[in-house]
Amino acid sequence: MKTVHIIGAGVSGLGAAHYLAERGIECVIHEASEGVGGRAAGRMEGDILFEVGGKNFSSQWTRFNALLTSFGIGEFDPQHPDFHLVLNNQLLKMDKSRTLKGDLRLGLRLGIRGSLQLKNFLSYSRKHADELNHSNGLIEEVEKRWDHKPVAGHFAPSLLAGPIRMFTIIMGAAEPGEVYPSLLMLFTSGFGKGRHFAVRGGIQRFHQALARNKQIRFGESVKRIAIADGKVTGLEIDTGEGVQTIATDAVISAVPAHVFKRLVDLPAAAQQACEEIRYFPLAMINASYDKPVFRDGINSIMFDPGSVLGHCSANRLYHPEQVRFTLSGAEARKVLHLPDDELISLAEAEFSRYLPITGNRVKACVTRHMGGICAYAPYFSRVKSTLLAGVETIGGLEIAGDYLEGHTMEGCLHSAELAARRLRQYLAQ
Ligand SMILES: Cc1cc2nc3c(=O)[nH]c(=O)nc-3n(C[C@H](O)[C@H](O)[C@H](O)COP(=O)(O)OP(=O)(O)OC[C@H]3O[C@@H](n4cnc5c(N)ncnc54)[C@H](O)[C@@H]3O)c2cc1C
Repeated sequence: MKTVHIIGAGVSGLGAAHYLAERGIECVIHEASEGVGGRAAGRMEGDILFEVGGKNFSSQWTRFNALLTSFGIGEFDPQHPDFHLVLNNQLLKMDKSRTLKGDLRLGLRLGIRGSLQLKNFLSYSRKHADELNHSNGLIEEVEKRWDHKPVAGHFAPSLLAGPIRMFTIIMGAAEPGEVYPSLLMLFTSGFGKGRHFAVRGGIQRFHQALARNKQIRFGESVKRIAIADGKVTGLEIDTGEGVQTIATDAVISAVPAHVFKRLVDLPAAAQQACEEIRYFPLAMINASYDKPVFRDGINSIMFDPGSVLGHCSANRLYHPEQVRFTLSGAEARKVLHLPDDELISLAEAEFSRYLPITGNRVKACVTRHMGGICAYAPYFSRVKSTLLAGVETIGGLEIAGDYLEGHTMEGCLHSAELAARRLRQYLAQ
């Protein structure tokens, strides 16, 4: 029986190993860092839980929920029921469910044109929520109709500093001028669908359960996937003590597209497709204070385009002293290179303009995610099929990741399941 080599121990890589192991196929995972979870990693520092990236899931996600059940993980914390939006330098409280139905206070700020556009847009995505995904042709219709210009080109200016930007920031760490309507539609069709939770005790419980009984080699950074005569022949791996070459004819890349494109020579069209997939880097600061930071009914704040902060929330509703500062969007990208302590000071000062931090910081942890929250390209269906067609020309190579079936942990598991299935079929030939 062949051993499959998987690059990356994030949700996609661990997921791929899981779906192969279910069919009795052995895997070795090569992970550049010292831990599992990638952009959704979590770690305990003393008695404080730091979830440094993705953590929330929907009750509607079949693969993610099936795995939670099989791991016996059954205690969850609900997400915030509301959030505050910075509009014209003021905080406006929004209730998630009312926002979707239309909110009078928001309506007054957005004006008639903005309100109608938001209502029509959200109604469309809600009405077609079950068909707006990568398995259904409707998203291609959306791409054809809307992706000729970015989100900013389609909406009234009042929406671009407010609710529409809120979606582009939460979903892509990007400005409305940088992403395209099909991505927005994919995101909003899932918004409010099902109930959203976080794993009590931290998302790392999920990754650790998924990693159990898997062979993972930490500190091994793959530099190259070797190909000869159209087939995978090996991997070049930097182990920290020099570069090693191992022979293998079955590889799943489970790293983001911006890493994958450096690992392999793809046919020109597929390489071009890979280049079109764009990521928007961000930094996540987890910080804990000796007094509650969130208070007076405020649990979560969405900032405006002039801010280095995209979004901040309490890590859990019952931990108002623990803050997740997300530095995302155009202004944030200008400061990501700053040292950690400067980034923390900037985040705290900006946050305190709206909700002064009165306590002392106890601990903080800065994580820069060069892969941002997700990857996307306009006319994504075409980009994806071109990329997959190119990968298919290389025997023994498969790809999984957030740039294929959606930008959530469920999307990553879906891509992992598909990659594992395609590779099994190839190995069975
Ligand atoms: C701030 C933030 C908030 C988010 N919120 C949510 C959320 O609430 N819910 C949700 O579902 N999703 C959320 N996401 C998205 C979700 O976290 C990602 O879609 C998912 O974690 C991506 O997993 P992945 O395995 O595809 O990639 P990654 O997590 O990036 O994993 C790739 C792994 O490969 C390793 N690697 C990289 N290069 C190499 C190499 N050359 N050799 C070996 N190993 C390598 C990396 O160290 C990493 O461990 C969020 C993301 C961020 C950043």
